[in-house]
Amino acid sequence: MNFMERLQVPEQVLEEVRNGAIHSWSAEKILEWGFDHFAPRIALSASFGSPEGMVIFDLMHRTDPSRSRLFTIDTGRLPQQTYDLMDRIRDRYGCEIEVFFPRPEQVEQMVRREGLNLFYESVEKRQRCCRVRKGEPLERALGDLDAWITGLRPGQSVTRRAVRAVEIDETHGDRIKLNPLIRWSREDVESYANQNQVPVNALHAQGYPSVGCAPCSRAVEPGEDLRSGRWWWENSETRECGIHTGFESDGSGI
Ligand code: SF4
Repeated sequence: MNFMERLQVPEQVLEEVRNGAIHSWSAEKILEWGFDHFAPRIALSASFGSPEGMVIFDLMHRTDPSRSRLFTIDTGRLPQQTYDLMDRIRDRYGCEIEVFFPRPEQVEQMVRREGLNLFYESVEKRQRCCRVRKGEPLERALGDLDAWITGLRPGQSVTRRAVRAVEIDETHGDRIKLNPLIRWSREDVESYANQNQVPVNALHAQGYPSVGCAPCSRAVEPGEDLRSGRWWWENSETRECGIHTGFESDGSGI
C-alpha cells in the first residue's frame, strides 16, 4: 500500500477507540488488543534511547513472542551505547530488529549544502535534519504496518501531555498508534526494568534520561524535564523530532 493513502480502519476498531474503554486498560491488555486486531501488521517503534521502549518490548515478548515485531531508525548519528543496546536486545530475546536507514542521496545532499551540524543553526534546519534522517525512514517503516506501538507517556515533556492510550494517527495515514504505558510513571518504568533485568541504554546511568542522536542529546540535572537534554538549545515547545508530531513547514506532514 502506498504510504500516503489513508488506512481504512474497520468501523469496529474505530468504535472501540472512540468509546474510551481502552484508556483504562493495563499495558498488557492494550498490547493484546493490538495483536488481536493488527498482527502481523503491528510493531513497536523503539529508539533504544529510553527505557519505555525496552519495557514494552519485554511485555510484548511475554504476551506473544511470535507476534512481537520491533523496528528502529538508525539515523547515522547514534551513540555507540545505543548500538550496543540493540545487540543486547537481539541476544536476549532472539529477535530480529527491523532497522531502517535514511536515504543516502538525501543525507548527502543535505550535508553537502548545509554541513554535518546544521541542526544547531536554527529550528528549521534541525527539523530538516530530523525529517531526512528520521521522518522519511519512518514513513517507509510504517508503510508496512496498520498499527504502531510507542513508549510515549504524558509525563515525559510538555509536548506529550495530550497523549492517549490509543490514537488514530492522522499524521501517518490514520494508522492506529498504541501508547500502552500511558498510565505509568518514570519510576514504574525503571522499577519494571530493574526487577525484570530488562537491558537499557548505558547512558541513562550517566544522566541521560532520553538518548537520541549523539550531537543532539546531553545529560540533565536531577529534577529537570526528562527530555530537556534533547535539543537543549531550543525552547521546550519545539523539542520533538517529528516522529510524534506534524511539522507545519514544507507541507511534509511528518
Ligand atoms: S536528532 Fe539531531 S542529528 Fe538526529 S536527525 Fe534530528 S537533528 Fe539530525
